[in-house]
Amino acid sequence: MIIPKIPRLSPEQLDEIIRIVEPFGCRIQPIIGDVRNIYAIVGDERDELMINRIEGLPYVERVEKMQSPFKLMDRRSSLASNHIKVGSVTLGQELLIIAGQCTIDPKNPNYFYETAHAVKEAGANALRGGVWKPRTNPYTFQGDSKSLDILMEAHRRTGLPVDAEVMDEHQLHLALDAGVHMLQVGARNSLNYSLLRAIGAAIATRPATNVLLKRGLHMGTLNEFISAAEYIAAFGNPNILLCPRGTAPALDGYRNHPDESITPLLKEKTWAPVVVDPSHSVGKADYVPACALAAIAYGADGLCIEAHVSPAQGIGDDPKQALTPDILASTIKQARHLWASRRAATAKMDTAKNKT
Ligand code: PEP
Ligand code: MN
Repeated sequence: MIIPKIPRLSPEQLDEIIRIVEPFGCRIQPIIGDVRNIYAIVGDERDELMINRIEGLPYVERVEKMQSPFKLMDRRSSLASNHIKVGSVTLGQELLIIAGQCTIDPKNPNYFYETAHAVKEAGANALRGGVWKPRTNPYTFQGDSKSLDILMEAHRRTGLPVDAEVMDEHQLHLALDAGVHMLQVGARNSLNYSLLRAIGAAIATRPATNVLLKRGLHMGTLNEFISAAEYIAAFGNPNILLCPRGTAPALDGYRNHPDESITPLLKEKTWAPVVVDPSHSVGKADYVPACALAAIAYGADGLCIEAHVSPAQGIGDDPKQALTPDILASTIKQARHLWASRRAATAKMDTAKNKT
């Protein structure tokens, strides 16, 4: 829909717009109002170049697109009935809990093995462990490929599927070759379109591999977030979980600005499950449980929580934000309880809506 700056376009201006849209297979339908006209674009209006050319005209205020820019991840797409599985959990049918260390310490693998057993005991369904780390400070520990063996050994010992962040194609292929079940795209890389494309291509023929796609560090639009998922899905594997993890600038006192409240908005636009990361949202262990429960109340399908058997001995974010196993266990218990009552309440409301 073209919204002009002026009440009505002159015949010459209308003609100029028609000449822009015709090569893209579209036509213009004026909608005549008493005070002003607006102009509908009839046809596939998703071509960015066409929209940019119209928005570049000095007498056009803006173009409002009626079609979604993401074909596959759109809630109305035929993929909406796609059920994503992580290990034994089908998203939407059971709350998914991913938990584990921010960073695996290659010098002290036993901590990770103990954490892996502890998170399983606490009720987690999947194990996270940072092998390669995106660190703001270039002089801090950047991760180590050796940790990949530790991650896979923890998988063998516990049976939990494992999640690890990859930041480039080399790491992507190492992780896939090792058998990592869930590839994490971090907040610093979720708009790295070459990486998203590489991941999409690499997992196209691996339907059991999932992607945990974090929301960009700097508050981006929801369309930007969902479109990043579309980049991966376009290659054929749409098993992507959207992960709000707090955005910058931070809310005073927290590590980031918690953004679990975007979940209902995401769900209006996309069928993709939402797995909130409360750990990076708030950045301090004391605040994590409340943020986790708020996320469930807002409609999250899962949580990704940093946990460590002995946070003080951890590296990376663990000393600050990892939950101890007992706090993790009580958070998971409360989260599952809340998830079940939210689900029951939603089903009741849906039945009532359908009756009216
Ligand atoms: C992490 O999960 O440890 C991490 C670095 O996350 P993010 O990309 O959200 O900062
Ligand atoms: Mn971390």
